[in-house]
Amino acid sequence: MSVAGRVALVTGAGSGIGRATATLLAQEGARIGLCDVDEAAGKQTARAIQERDGQALFVHADVSRAQEVRAFVTQVAEAFGGIDILINNAGIGSKKKQLLDLSEAEWLHILDVNLNGHFYCCKYAVPFMVRAGGGAIVNMSSVLAVATFPGTLPYTTSKSALIGFTTGLANELGPYGIRVNCLLPGSTDTPMMWRGVSPDEREAVEAEVAAAQPLRRFAQSEEIARAALFLVSSQSSFITGAALVVDGGLLTRIATTR
Ligand code: NAD
Repeated sequence: MSVAGRVALVTGAGSGIGRATATLLAQEGARIGLCDVDEAAGKQTARAIQERDGQALFVHADVSRAQEVRAFVTQVAEAFGGIDILINNAGIGSKKKQLLDLSEAEWLHILDVNLNGHFYCCKYAVPFMVRAGGGAIVNMSSVLAVATFPGTLPYTTSKSALIGFTTGLANELGPYGIRVNCLLPGSTDTPMMWRGVSPDEREAVEAEVAAAQPLRRFAQSEEIARAALFLVSSQSSFITGAALVVDGGLLTRIATTR
């Protein structure tokens, strides 16, 4: 899909969707700069790519810290000679808490990682894309940007803000040949999905989630990764500012049962 030889940054690539996306882009011939706060997990993704003759460079970076992001982007650009693609994937869920129980620190932490992290990565990666004469960015939003459950307020707020961030940035960067889109995955079988669910509860949660989907199952990380690949490849060359829903039809049901 013509990402061969391109340099792609993937944040939060030590697990789940980020790992699947880094792996897929590497399979398609891209050189991968990846970061994560979990050093062991990030290095494991990089090693797995290298073992299949791909090129990957792991840099420990927390996307909510501007200087760490700047160091990550600079190190990858120096190693690989530029930046063409950015997958803004790193994100965290919120503990189920409603406004009355939510502390200021919890609110700010989610927005720092899920929203400000995207800003820092764009701020430091885009100048390299401008210099290269083009590029492609994918921001990882969620179906929870447009449909919510009680107790997900900061997460929902961060993910819906990413839709506005995407459209605004697409408008600004189009003249530079840089496309910016976002993905809205539905329930995806990753460690994030199972955080806070005890082994005893797992079967019931699986059944509940499956029942909510027209396709009657979770997404696998690779299915989200394929959508990300599409959005950064030449196959989507006239798509920018879009919010692509990849949810097994979940939103159609939420919309019809409201
Ligand atoms: P995950 O928890 O499996 O992986 C997230 C990775 O990001 C982890 O390796 C983690 O260490 C890393 N990370 C967390 N905070 C970071 C930070 N500050 N800086 C750098 N790395 C950091 O989660 P996932 O399910 O693969 O989620 C990936 C993205 O997809 C997130 O943005 C999430 O909100 C979004 N998403 C997930 C689902 C789902 O059902 N799993 C649905 C919709 C959207």
